[in-house]
Amino acid sequence: MRQFQFEYENDRAFVKEIAKIKQWCSSRITSGIFFTIYTESVDKVKIADICRTIDEQLPDALYMGCSTCGNISGGQFTSSDTGIVCTVCEYPSTKIEMKQYKLNASLEKSVVEDVIAYTDKNDWIKAIQMFVTIRGMSMTGFCEDMSHIRKNIQIFGGGAFNPDINNDVACVFSKPGGYSEQAVAFLFLGGEDFYVESTHITGWKPLGRELIVTKAEGSILYELDNKPAYDTYYKYLKIKNDENFFNNTLEFPFFYEHNGINILRAPIASNSDGSLTMTSDIDENVKARLAYGDPNVILEDIHFICQRIHRFSPEIIQIFSCAARRTFWGNTEANKETFPFQAIAPTSGFYTSGEFLRTNGYLNQHNVTLVLASMREGQPIETSIDTLSTGSELTGKVSMISRLATFIDAATDELESVNKKLEQIAKLDGLTGIYNRKEIQKLIVSSMKRGTSVTLIMLDIDNFKSVNDTYGHLEGDNVIIGLSVILKHLTKSSTAVCGRWGGEEFMVMLEDCTRERAVEIAENLREDFNNSEFKKAGKTTVSVGVTQAFKNEDPDSLFMRVDKALYKAKQTGKNKVVVL
Ligand code: GH3
Ligand code: MG
Ligand code: MG
Repeated sequence: MRQFQFEYENDRAFVKEIAKIKQWCSSRITSGIFFTIYTESVDKVKIADICRTIDEQLPDALYMGCSTCGNISGGQFTSSDTGIVCTVCEYPSTKIEMKQYKLNASLEKSVVEDVIAYTDKNDWIKAIQMFVTIRGMSMTGFCEDMSHIRKNIQIFGGGAFNPDINNDVACVFSKPGGYSEQAVAFLFLGGEDFYVESTHITGWKPLGRELIVTKAEGSILYELDNKPAYDTYYKYLKIKNDENFFNNTLEFPFFYEHNGINILRAPIASNSDGSLTMTSDIDENVKARLAYGDPNVILEDIHFICQRIHRFSPEIIQIFSCAARRTFWGNTEANKETFPFQAIAPTSGFYTSGEFLRTNGYLNQHNVTLVLASMREGQPIETSIDTLSTGSELTGKVSMISRLATFIDAATDELESVNKKLEQIAKLDGLTGIYNRKEIQKLIVSSMKRGTSVTLIMLDIDNFKSVNDTYGHLEGDNVIIGLSVILKHLTKSSTAVCGRWGGEEFMVMLEDCTRERAVEIAENLREDFNNSEFKKAGKTTVSVGVTQAFKNEDPDSLFMRVDKALYKAKQTGKNKVVVL
């Protein structure tokens, strides 16, 4: 693969550049040529001129492009508004194909169906690069459907943008589809000797405790932990809802878990109801965490990924980077995270309105992320990693932000583990260490709600008052503990769950247990307790009630019946098991 990158100035200069490419190709065997055109203008006439020139000069060449929020050429942000990248495939086995579809919410399904049918028929396809207009459309359904494409095909690309972030007009164009403001263009790449590796990198790191997305719809994030989402930004970061909101929150976007990976979402605006409009859709009931962007930490990650890509030995690298990253760094500084790749292979791409990458089979829409696709034909060229000097900016000094973030993480971990312990303690009875009433009741109710067949055993120590009165409260406590020890044994040797229901009353829940077995267990408990010998109180007895829940029975009615069974045991002489 050989790549030619240049800026489009005018038609004459363009024809000259194409002549150079033709010249280069004339002395070699080539198998295909495709142009990628990135333009910061949505000037239809200019785009048509570029396309026509390619059609005339290289009629067999394919081309596709889109409007962008900045172009990357030679690994750097270019000030010219149109960048042209021409890739020449050199292996006879390499194949390229392009398709373009009109895309909106109602056409999405049929577009993806067609792509799936096409990829199923063409087993040479190894990668799909896509440019898509995403503004004004939720891409969630599209991404979910695209995830059904043959698993061994890598998918990556970017959302077309307008150089003016507040302007929704964006376009995609290609040889097969022409110019469109509502479209997706696909470049299919593959063949025996074509190799591709795609990856993403944010460099942003999660910070602080987990928050649950309790209410979200499309790209509107309403609530985190049942509180208005904006409150989180104000509470933890004191970010005000003013004209700097986007820039300030960009340093602290959200990480949230989707399809098993962390995805970044940044708020674009805060609304009067306390909700936040995010850069793309966000799911409900997922875990989210604030993330922080620290230039040094980001560059460390870039350095790491550079080494990985270097090992792959690509001939070309495509970058789809979020326009928000350009805002975060500023135009010149932004090169720090793109230029290192140029040391590996010619690197080009654009600043997008959304980055797309397939990971673990799923196509995800990212934000604030850098998606990288590395490609080559043939076997990797052995090069020493040492020759790669991408880390020159790194001084080894850990920034203050990074240290503070580590501090916050350590403190959060400590608090979370204390919280977990407290949560556990809150479920247990202080005297016996088995579940308290609230917890055992909750477990019984939820088991019944799940539709499990539940049997209850309720126990109450006989004549317990007189134990207290005769031998004192401490001995009374010992007797209570004695019964709880017997119950603990039962829970260890079976799936039974037990808790202290009240003073000297206990409840046992058996799941999916026959009536006969439940009575047997109840008898054993009664006998075991009977056989216990207490220091002062000697032998004591316990009365036991057993009952099984009916299908769809209300828990309260079950509790009443087991209590009735126990009452009957008391009424009919105590120290016995009664089943109702
Ligand atoms: P019955 O055979 O009918 O169950 O008679 P009982 O004496 O066991 O009946 P009752 O339920 O009236 O007595 C329960 C007593 O348990 C009353 C209360 O003072 C005592 N008690 C409740 N909690 C504790 C505790 O944690 N420790 C001690 N030592 N006694 C407790
Ligand atoms: Mg009692
Ligand atoms: Mg009692």
